Amino acid sequence: MSTSLKHALGFLDFVNASPTPYHVVDTVKNRLVQAGFTELSERVNWVGQLKKDSKYFVTRNTSSIIAFTVGGMYEPGNGISIVGGHTDSPALRVKPISNISKEGYKEVGIETYGGGIWHTWFDRDLSIAGRVFVTDPKTGNCVSKLIKIDKPLLRIPTLAIHLDKERAKFEFNKETQFRPIAGLEKAEDAKKESKETDDVSAEFQSIKSVVERHNKDMINLISSKLDVTPEQIEDFELILYDTQKSCLGGLNDEFIFSPRLDNQVTCYCSIEGIIESSVSNQLSNQSGIQMVSLFDHEEIGSLTAQGANSSFLPDILHRITKLTFNPDVDLCSELPSSYFWTAMAKSFVISSDMAHGVHPNYSEKYEALNRPKLNDGPVIKINANQRYVTNSAGIVLLKKIGALSKTPLQLFVIRNDSPCGSTIGPMVAAKLGIRTLDIGNPQLSMHSIRETCGSADIEKLVNLFDAYFENYSTVGPTILVQ
Ligand SMILES: [Zn+2]
Repeated sequence: MSTSLKHALGFLDFVNASPTPYHVVDTVKNRLVQAGFTELSERVNWVGQLKKDSKYFVTRNTSSIIAFTVGGMYEPGNGISIVGGHTDSPALRVKPISNISKEGYKEVGIETYGGGIWHTWFDRDLSIAGRVFVTDPKTGNCVSKLIKIDKPLLRIPTLAIHLDKERAKFEFNKETQFRPIAGLEKAEDAKKESKETDDVSAEFQSIKSVVERHNKDMINLISSKLDVTPEQIEDFELILYDTQKSCLGGLNDEFIFSPRLDNQVTCYCSIEGIIESSVSNQLSNQSGIQMVSLFDHEEIGSLTAQGANSSFLPDILHRITKLTFNPDVDLCSELPSSYFWTAMAKSFVISSDMAHGVHPNYSEKYEALNRPKLNDGPVIKINANQRYVTNSAGIVLLKKIGALSKTPLQLFVIRNDSPCGSTIGPMVAAKLGIRTLDIGNPQLSMHSIRETCGSADIEKLVNLFDAYFENYSTVGPTILVQ
């Protein structure tokens, strides 16, 4: 098997295991633990706990994660090479009260999350996944459990063409016509529900129980999967996902057909890159800190406790840059903030998010000369208005890293008459004052429920990140910017 297919297949397993940001973080955690990383908690002091030549990770809200490796030759104030990305993708989320009966159907009320191409969610075999808080009857504590139901449960049906006068246009109301059906009502349901409502009314509840707010069959399915009783379920975040698995496609397996390429390609490639950069004695000879920072909530603006516009990354960088990584000295003192500032000035962020590969049937939508192709390598994104924060110093760095790893790179700029996306790049750069560059693999149909990218590009991005982590502390200082 060629190496490029190995990483493409590794990515398929990653995305198939990760229908929600909670699952992305869990998949990443498992991979890091397997590779010898140690979990840290934000709830305890790290002074005296961390060593050089070691690997760590920390999560926030179990939907954002930061992993880092500390070189054996690291000295306080040295630079940090960071890759940033996001764990979330546009999706539909179950509403707090979701049980709807209509025309004999059971429906589930949903909220849209982010800017999806929502018409692609019609007529797909959907299921649910997410995070459920359950009470442990022994301790009385609430613990969160991951849930992923691996069979089609829900479907948003289109209207038959025969009943649709305006068939040329596919428009729909996102509140009333974009609602999944979950089953058919049984005659006894209505009777049973009114009786149960009467039964529970005697006992005071600040909020109605999940059993009363959601479809009972759905709650029963979740509780049996988690091996708890329905009454133990306190609350949850449930997200709809397409049960069709991510797969290789094309006559020569040149494509990946998949949900959530944006941005799980970055999650997979950055984690594989930092792991590969830390094997054997490479880490012991390293003088920098290498870091991957994957945030939730990019698709809705990042302004949350664990988003890219939160304190998560600054907090972790402040903690780390104040440590001497010497357990004998560390126990009673932290270094002054000047170490943080000098480290930030020497550091670099690669903000990685998917890019737009040229679409053969809409090529007029792309700028004439800057048209990235699938399988031709990662795309450096440039925008004069700083929706992407790449500058020439960053391009010089990536050019050198690309040459070291023999990774071809492409350039992208948007047309002046076109809207432009953005990334976590500008906000991370502005928050920390770290030099930043925007990059990402090219794909088609960004934000569709089923996107397409090049299968050979997965290995290229892994290799680029591996080379960046291995070489930043020697290449970075050769590019002089004050
Ligand atoms: Zn994205």
